[in-house]
Amino acid sequence: MMVPQRKTSGQSASRHRDGRHSYAEHQPMQKRRGQEMRHSIKRPHDNKLRFIALGGLGEIGRNMMLLEYQDDIIIIDMGLQFPGEETPGIDYIIPNISYLKDKTKNIRGVLITHGHYDHIGAIPQLIGKLGNPTIYATPLTAAIIKKRQIDFPHASKLNIEHINETTVTKLGVFSVRYFPVMHNIPEGIGMEIETPIGIIVHPGEFKFYYDRNNNPVGLEAFKELGKKKPLLLMLDSTKSEEPGRSMPEWQVEENIEELLRNAKGRVIVSTFASLLDRLTQIIHIADKLERRVAITGRSMEANFAIAKELGLVKIKKETIIPIKEIGKYKDEKILIITTGAQGEENAGLTRMAAGTHRDVHVRKNDTVIFSSSIVPGNEMAVQVLRDNLSRQGATVYHYKILGIHSGGHATRTELKEAINIIKPKFFLPIHGFYYMRQVNAKLAEEEGGIPAHNIVVGENGQVIEITPESIQLTKEFVPTSHVMVDGLGVGDVGEVVLRDRQALSADGIFVIIAVVDSQTGKVRGSPDIISRGFIYLRESRELLYHARQLTKKIIEDATQNMHPVNWTWVKDNVRDRLGKFLFQKTERRPMVLPVVIEV
Ligand SMILES: [Zn+2]
Repeated sequence: MMVPQRKTSGQSASRHRDGRHSYAEHQPMQKRRGQEMRHSIKRPHDNKLRFIALGGLGEIGRNMMLLEYQDDIIIIDMGLQFPGEETPGIDYIIPNISYLKDKTKNIRGVLITHGHYDHIGAIPQLIGKLGNPTIYATPLTAAIIKKRQIDFPHASKLNIEHINETTVTKLGVFSVRYFPVMHNIPEGIGMEIETPIGIIVHPGEFKFYYDRNNNPVGLEAFKELGKKKPLLLMLDSTKSEEPGRSMPEWQVEENIEELLRNAKGRVIVSTFASLLDRLTQIIHIADKLERRVAITGRSMEANFAIAKELGLVKIKKETIIPIKEIGKYKDEKILIITTGAQGEENAGLTRMAAGTHRDVHVRKNDTVIFSSSIVPGNEMAVQVLRDNLSRQGATVYHYKILGIHSGGHATRTELKEAINIIKPKFFLPIHGFYYMRQVNAKLAEEEGGIPAHNIVVGENGQVIEITPESIQLTKEFVPTSHVMVDGLGVGDVGEVVLRDRQALSADGIFVIIAVVDSQTGKVRGSPDIISRGFIYLRESRELLYHARQLTKKIIEDATQNMHPVNWTWVKDNVRDRLGKFLFQKTERRPMVLPVVIEV
């Protein structure tokens, strides 16, 4: 039997020389690359529990974490991440599962915390590659997963088992219990994971539910966990920078109702389609106030269908009407729910504001409500959208000027309370960028009384080793580079394609077409130039003249001296020298595409 050599790799990174801020240390980038290579020769044959995040630490989204103890692995969530500016043209990014490639037989199950795409969105692409392990999810979450799977006809058939508060899932050495948590989608769950080294608590994404006196209610599950003296608490860091408590949902509901009651004309509400709680809440208020509801936008309609199927919507039959029929009712009897609260280019609200929506044109007396927060990066698009809506005469409300939205994540006071109720020995902030997680770590140290050496802030891919005595960041990193999904293909957008897109978006494209007489080797006439996003051609005559001359010279030099002519070499040469020339003159680097046509 092979007994692998395994060095205890965690010593230097998390050793806190002065007993403080050990969680601030992390490995420099270069070191990490080399370490990625080595993971395959190691096998965890000791009594340490390994925690690895394949995504979700270092970004918002792409959540996928795993716990590994000897030959047993459980996976928590399998989400996607929506693209940013560094990945133009990409649909979304999914976790890198290379680490699990040779370990699929060890995977005991996939536990899903809730039905948001950043927690379930990578299932269609990944589950088959992982040997199709069983997915454990609540009925609603399972329904969303199955619905999404329909869009991927070639993906594996799913094995899903429903879970609830009374289920105990035995997965190898792990046994998992669940408790309901409040998020902004129904049926979110937290997990109590019994491991050979102690209990790990992962409350998923949650916030507290408040009564009319703003006291948190329903904390029994948290208190019960506290009694069990858990070893480790993993805690969502998304809102760790936001002071105070979440706005209670009853307050949001009252404010929306008040708005709807007072609105003189039509009301158009825009929110995230995935915020099922908000969606059903608004529909119920409209139903109560006898406004007809028209839902538009594909994702919004799909999520409404799911909510209805699961019995989350209890309204009068006549309340929901097709969007085409809004004209049949008085304005003050209409509520329209649409996508586009983030200013997305093709979403319903954007088109309504631009006057290009087929069924709805925004007009005076309309009230537009943005009931969602703005995803970082979308601020400008949302501003433009609000401007356009206001110009059309609509009254626009958003959550900052009126309490019509409350997020789904615990804010500082709630995080602090959760830490103090659960009282874990070790603390591991998860979800969000490094800074957010570090702020969460500070909170646990300063307000939760957890000593700094019991707190770690790791990176994606970094192996964290946990024993009953210690939690340590190791120097071992598993691969977590982005896997990009473009259209329906996975990972077929390589670095090259991405670099091209970046170059195109930065400096444009410059195409030069030369027709060469194969008899004489001379360029016929003057080469044609097509350019986009680089320079304004009409104002650059001189530059273009020189570009044509240079191209002509390079080609003719080659045809005179080279037999037979190596056209690939000629084109490479044109690309290089023309590229340099253009850079000298303009300090820009457009993508240069030489085309040579022999006649
Ligand atoms: Zn969520």
